Amino acid sequence: MPLVGDMSSDILSKHYDVSKFGLIYAGAQKNLGPAGVTVVIIREDLAGNAMDFTPTMFNYKEHIENGSMYNTPPTFGIYLIGLVLNWLKEQGGVTAIEKINIEKANTLYNFLDESSLFKSTVAGKDRSVMNIPFVTGNEEIDAKFIKEATAAGFVQLKGHRSVGGMRASIYNAIS
Ligand SMILES: *Cc1c(COP(=O)(O)O)cnc(C)c1O
Repeated sequence: MPLVGDMSSDILSKHYDVSKFGLIYAGAQKNLGPAGVTVVIIREDLAGNAMDFTPTMFNYKEHIENGSMYNTPPTFGIYLIGLVLNWLKEQGGVTAIEKINIEKANTLYNFLDESSLFKSTVAGKDRSVMNIPFVTGNEEIDAKFIKEATAAGFVQLKGHRSVGGMRASIYNAIS
């Protein structure tokens, strides 16, 4: 069974063996650039099997045959991604950013593991270096924390609407 990855959050955050994937899909808005561009890396033999009712825009073979220019692509977004990729190269590429990301995530995980107020909701082996959910265990205190954190300049810490609590999204651009 081909491995398909939605890597919107973790593309270019650390090394992955791309050859193991059948398809990688990534919205640009986390680690690549502005929303509106999507990167797809597909094994060539998997393209061309779209079902009859698949809209042309969702048929990757169409994009491959047209050099990713089946329609006018979002040129300004792609230009900005070029700038972000150059920035990443200047940092030392994925090797360098991976090291920074692990250090950044461990700083927060270590704090959460030692804290008597906050705790991580994810088991050690499943922890993301990009998105770190955490809770106090009390919704009122969570809300108070988010309010005070926002006032202190830590924005967008409110957890995903389906799970509540807090979530620190620490993508490549976050220092
Ligand atoms: C952020 C993210 C999404 C959500 O992307 P939207 O374009 O905002 O809906 C979906 N999948 C993954 C894996 C993500 O990290």
